[in-house]
Amino acid sequence: MIDRYGRDIYYLRLSVTELCNLRCRYCMPAEGVCKLRHDEMLTEDEIIRAVRAAASLGMYKVRITGGEPLVKPNILSICRRVAEVDGVTETVMTTNATRLAALARPLREAGIGRVNISLDTLNAEKYAFMTRGGTLADATNGIEAALEAGFEKVKINAVLIGGFNDDEIPALSALTLRWPVDMRFIELMPMPGDTLFGEQAYIPVSRVLEILPEAVPAAVHDGVARMYRLPGGLGNIGLISPLSNHFCGNCNRLRLTADGHLKPCLHSREEICIRGMNEEQMAEAIRQAAFLKPQQHDPLSRSARSHAARPMNQIGG
Ligand code: SAM
Ligand code: SF4
Repeated sequence: MIDRYGRDIYYLRLSVTELCNLRCRYCMPAEGVCKLRHDEMLTEDEIIRAVRAAASLGMYKVRITGGEPLVKPNILSICRRVAEVDGVTETVMTTNATRLAALARPLREAGIGRVNISLDTLNAEKYAFMTRGGTLADATNGIEAALEAGFEKVKINAVLIGGFNDDEIPALSALTLRWPVDMRFIELMPMPGDTLFGEQAYIPVSRVLEILPEAVPAAVHDGVARMYRLPGGLGNIGLISPLSNHFCGNCNRLRLTADGHLKPCLHSREEICIRGMNEEQMAEAIRQAAFLKPQQHDPLSRSARSHAARPMNQIGG
């Protein structure tokens, strides 16, 4: 599906729940979120209908995300049914990995091809602090289970936060020497209402290259990430810069929230509700959402927050 600005929109990010077993400070309020009523959420059948509608328009890549997708009781069934939709050739997931030790293999069998795992620190105390109570070993055990389960690719994503984990750039990057994973650093995005982080937290991912002069450009393509590699690396290092160098010109995605709202752009308030629609109506709404994609969102910076109407856990990061 080509949008008004000539971009091919082939990638659907599907949030299956707003709930999460962690409470990362940049993503969720400390008290968590109110559980939606069943009638406020897309049903499993509606999710599959939306994916069919998207695939009928040429959208072939689906990322299952949340909230934390692995807290959704019917997640395996959703994954299996998404992966079976005609026209969907890539079914992938973003997860905090804390439940992957038990679920990695069943997810692989259900048709998940690749997983992105969020891990911001290798220090157990810092992990507990940033996630408000999470256990680092759950996540690292999950990563090991993912590596054993035979996914086509495992990527680790860290949100780079000045004063929190910039001192761990070498240690996090060294994971690519230990495991065949890509380690990607993402700039912290100033979401509406999140006032926990001071200006020093928003640092550009170019800091990674200053700290790792031995990293060399890697001849691989990975969507919006600029890729590098350490000598002897089993995987790559990726830099994702929503603030210092936004990538709207290459945007290829639409988002669908757990409560059934299509979002043409992560950082705008525009949404289209598709709850209760049949497949044809959903396809029309998806076309409309692609039409409404802005050429670019307003620039984000330490002082210019996202205009998104929701926090990340409700959008599907
Ligand atoms: N729970 C899953 C996880 O953490 O991987 C999936 C959902 S989470 C919202 C998806 C991604 O969004 C995570 O990698 C998280 O670090 C990222 N994220 C959330 N809030 C963010 C923010 N303010 N700036 C940058 N990345 C953010
Ligand atoms: Fe949960 Fe992921 Fe948000 Fe952390 S980033 S609170 S793991 S949804």
